[in-house]
Amino acid sequence: MDPGEKILSLEQMDQWVAAEKSGGRRIGFTCGSFDLLHAGHVQYLGAARELCDRLIVAVNSDASVSRYKSPLRPIVPERERMYVVAGLAAVDAVTLMEEDRPLSLLLRWKPDLYIKGGDYAEASLRSADAVKEYGGKVAVVKSGFETSSSRIMERIGVLGAHGAPDIASSRGSRGLVLLDRDGTLIRNVPFLHDPAKVEILPGVIDGLLKLQAAELRLAIVTNQQGIGLGYYTVQDFIAVNQRLLRELGARGVRISKIYFCPHSLGERCSCRKPATGMITRAMREFGVAPSLTFLVGDSDDDMQAGADAGCQTVRVDEKGFGSAAEQILSLRGT
Ligand SMILES: [Mg+2]
Repeated sequence: MDPGEKILSLEQMDQWVAAEKSGGRRIGFTCGSFDLLHAGHVQYLGAARELCDRLIVAVNSDASVSRYKSPLRPIVPERERMYVVAGLAAVDAVTLMEEDRPLSLLLRWKPDLYIKGGDYAEASLRSADAVKEYGGKVAVVKSGFETSSSRIMERIGVLGAHGAPDIASSRGSRGLVLLDRDGTLIRNVPFLHDPAKVEILPGVIDGLLKLQAAELRLAIVTNQQGIGLGYYTVQDFIAVNQRLLRELGARGVRISKIYFCPHSLGERCSCRKPATGMITRAMREFGVAPSLTFLVGDSDDDMQAGADAGCQTVRVDEKGFGSAAEQILSLRGT
């Protein structure tokens, strides 16, 4: 059986629930984001299934996960999260939950049992009272595993931070090039948030390859005021970078890290160029001195920030990135 067959729309679930109830089977209901399915999930869903005859799992939609967990989540899109949950033998039917709370679905299907996994005290389940009111029961199933999606993500984050920039290879590097993004590497599109509009500027790939060949590490330092102003999200920003990194990667260019300032001008942060926060942080993390660090950009703010941080600065002018790369190579030689 394809797990996808267990995924039902709300209307299909109405019919499914009615049929199972008329067959005399006890319906259990649970919900969650199941972003990175782990042992704790599998154990709790198995235990939940033992408390009932049929188990429904409502999987939070992408929009609801973004709202109640973090704008950076989910990692895995809703269609795939539902499919993975449906693949478990303990699960009989799966549906998408657009709302943050299961109350309306509970009232719609009135399952015999509302089950939550994890550390929720029964009293803290806001929907518990409603379930009891129609005659249902509430159960909390604790996991025997000390794991969670957040812990897995944290672990991945730690590994990533150690991988790039990695200390071993930056020790041998001849310096660091900090690159502005918009107007320097890619065509400047105001408040860019559409990956399809990423257009790498002429000379950029060849220039970056030359810098890389000269054993200079590459990182991006970019102001993204549009995030702070609410014009686009961090996820949009990451999607644009993903496109850029994919295109550069295909040509053999490796950007070690992307530093970004999400604040608006009015927030008066210490990272938004012409402030030096991102640059000093990059030099610290890469372990490279200001004298061996080059800031490449297309604006006065870039030049100011680089100079204030003690770096050498190179402006991309009408001659393009290739010429800027040559300047860096000659500056480095002096
Ligand atoms: Mg720029």
